[in-house]
Amino acid sequence: MIAPPPLRDDCFALPAGVDWTPADVALDRLKNGLSVVCATEEIDIGDARGRVLSADVHAKRSNPPAPNSAVDGYGFSFECLGENDVHRLDLIDGRAAAGGPFQDEVPFGKAIRILTGAILPVGVDTVILEEDVSVASGEIAFHAGLKPFANTRKAGEDVNVNEIALTAGHRLGPQDVGLLVALGVSKITVFKRLRVGVLSTGDELVNAGPAEPWQTYDANRPMLGGLVENFGYALVDLGQAPDDRSALKEILNQAASHVDAILISGGASGGDEDHVSALLREEGNMQTWRIAIKPGRPLALSLWHGVPVFGLPGNPVAAFVCSLIFARPALGVLAGQAWNEPQGFMVPASFTKTKKPGRREYLRARLNTDGQVEIFKSEGSGRISGLSWSTGLVELDEHAQTIQPKMPVRFIPYSSFGI
Ligand code: AMP
Ligand code: MG
Repeated sequence: MIAPPPLRDDCFALPAGVDWTPADVALDRLKNGLSVVCATEEIDIGDARGRVLSADVHAKRSNPPAPNSAVDGYGFSFECLGENDVHRLDLIDGRAAAGGPFQDEVPFGKAIRILTGAILPVGVDTVILEEDVSVASGEIAFHAGLKPFANTRKAGEDVNVNEIALTAGHRLGPQDVGLLVALGVSKITVFKRLRVGVLSTGDELVNAGPAEPWQTYDANRPMLGGLVENFGYALVDLGQAPDDRSALKEILNQAASHVDAILISGGASGGDEDHVSALLREEGNMQTWRIAIKPGRPLALSLWHGVPVFGLPGNPVAAFVCSLIFARPALGVLAGQAWNEPQGFMVPASFTKTKKPGRREYLRARLNTDGQVEIFKSEGSGRISGLSWSTGLVELDEHAQTIQPKMPVRFIPYSSFGI
């Protein structure tokens, strides 16, 4: 288990003199300023799903390990087929099956019954599909036209022994676990799971149950906690903090000893009750990032006893979008993952919209049955219902633009963010 070096104090420093930071500059800063904070461990492949590789994984065995049949049929040596229009071969006793190899040699000029996945016996290099063959009294007959090595798979045609199967930084999905098992890998080294604390702040917040009209249900904590878990990290629920600096400080002090990163929502924009930004500025070396995106208020980024803290907007829509766009790739770097670029694609718009220059905008959006992308009826960032209505975000770049129906726009489905 190797402990990584601590993050640099200036990891969140942005270029001086910049007023509004373009989203790409902010993302570059996160990409280059942060580094993995998790130590490594060796685990069984059975526990590997969702984990992040800390080293390349090499194949222990080729896939397939030996040449085998791709179909149910009959195997023989291609060379024994003559020039005739119809080939006839005697069948030998026995058969080759997956898990039941034929151990002897198949004599030149003879054929053997062979099933899908069976290793080709010595003397067999080509297989004919059973549907293309007539079988009678120990003999098979079929028309000419077969190619050498037909219906067989070469040893290692997928992956060769010792080849790199997956590289460090890859987060293992179910298909990756399948691949590694197929290659004979039983142990792998991964980064320890990133522990992410989630904290809500605000005197108005309450949990589910009876509430006064001036109270606000704490929607962010379960929402951000769910994101953390969907991203594949260990969630540490840090509860709610009142708008009180010493209470907040105490919670951060406690948390810093058992989490690797902290997401805070609320209190970060610099107003009277914004104790998060006040505390982080005075005691945590905070950087305020005024990122030119909508929705989104400033992001407050800081190290607290070496633990990176992401101060997200309190508004749930902005908190959600900022988490997807900024917290997700940043947490990915801390967890040891390769940089996460969400995959979007161009889709014709079904809407009209004019936007001013300056900010990048993210609109709650979904595909309709005509294959066009529609946007939520309101851009109001208080409308949390739009998050459930939508299945992704339309991303409009910083330029002034007028979108008309059928113009292509970039749609990023939520699934591209791992949720
Ligand atoms: P703040 O950033 O603290 O000024 O909060 C901005 C808005 O988001 C206010 O209306 C807050 O009541 C609301 N808000 C803050 N935290 C949460 C939360 N955890 N759940 C729902 N709304 C919140
Ligand atoms: Mg607040």
